[in-house]
Amino acid sequence: MVGPRIDSILRSPNWHNFASPSWFPVFRSNGEAPRWVLRVQHRRGSLAGIVAGVRRRNLAISFGVLVLLSVSMSLVVLASYRAQKYARLQMDFVAAVSHELRTPLAVISSAAENIADGVVPEKQLTKYGLAIRNQTSRLVDLVEDILRFAAARDGSNRYRHRIFDVSELVDTAIENTRALLDRDGFTLHKEIEPKLPKVRGDISALGQCLENLIVNAVKYSGRSRWIGIRAQIGRDHAGYLEVQITVADRGPGIPAGEVKQIFEPFYRTQAARDGQIRGTGLGLTLARTIVEEMGGHLTVVTKLEQGSAFTVHLPPVLNPPSEVESTPVSELSHKA
Ligand code: ADP
Repeated sequence: MVGPRIDSILRSPNWHNFASPSWFPVFRSNGEAPRWVLRVQHRRGSLAGIVAGVRRRNLAISFGVLVLLSVSMSLVVLASYRAQKYARLQMDFVAAVSHELRTPLAVISSAAENIADGVVPEKQLTKYGLAIRNQTSRLVDLVEDILRFAAARDGSNRYRHRIFDVSELVDTAIENTRALLDRDGFTLHKEIEPKLPKVRGDISALGQCLENLIVNAVKYSGRSRWIGIRAQIGRDHAGYLEVQITVADRGPGIPAGEVKQIFEPFYRTQAARDGQIRGTGLGLTLARTIVEEMGGHLTVVTKLEQGSAFTVHLPPVLNPPSEVESTPVSELSHKA
């Protein structure tokens, strides 16, 4: 404030003329004509500066709101895309399961009908019985896969952890799939590194996982009739020791665009669907879930026209306790 010295603060007698409360003090100069210049300035600078600042702040807020809106829009679009994709996969799954159910059910029903009608000669009865048994076990396998998948999903799987030899795991998985390998004339190349450390986990569940990989190698090998199984000690990305069990084939391989998706539930490659190869698209999801629950992970390396190699990576037990729990092979009596 610039002006003459202020001598007094009085109450104006004509105060009501200003339509203001009478108690408001006014400054009066000492006899001279008042020449006041009132400059008002915000603590933060000039009015123009403040307006520009407010504008900038409003702009930043609008921009933030816009970014937030676009992020939420993208999330909504992504979620609906995922929901659509999942619904489509489930529809494919229902179609695949129905297809898988139809064939064995048709065989069982026509065999049973023929036997009931008495049109089957006695010497053919055994053959019919075998067909019914095979188709029934195919149905049981399918239902078991679906139940296992459901259990893995809701986390109700009960694992019995043990410390065991990798060779025991590999040999049992091979034994359980031997009939399939022999039936299709496969050559199996097995290589187990000597003095491999033991691993810890549910040997039955891990066996099921290995068998899934072997069955896949058989199903998707095309004309090749070769499977390699190798167990070795290696190092993970961080340089830690790990046990690696690889199931390799020399089949047509998996297109790069589909490699990630084969681990998703219900996903089947275009080639598998076109080739009408039996399957539900659950095997690898199950295998991966099991391996991860044992503290490991499952990877694949694949090259078109050259084959695929699926590897189970497991943490080794480097200092097993003296009273090592061993698992009887009888525990490994699950399906091939
Ligand atoms: P399923 O075999 O029942 O279809 P999986 O989950 O085991 O289901 O496999 C998912 C898909 O991955 C298969 O449908 C197939 O397309 C592909 N796949 C799996 N293993 C192999 C393999 N060894 N070679 C080529 N493709 C494979």
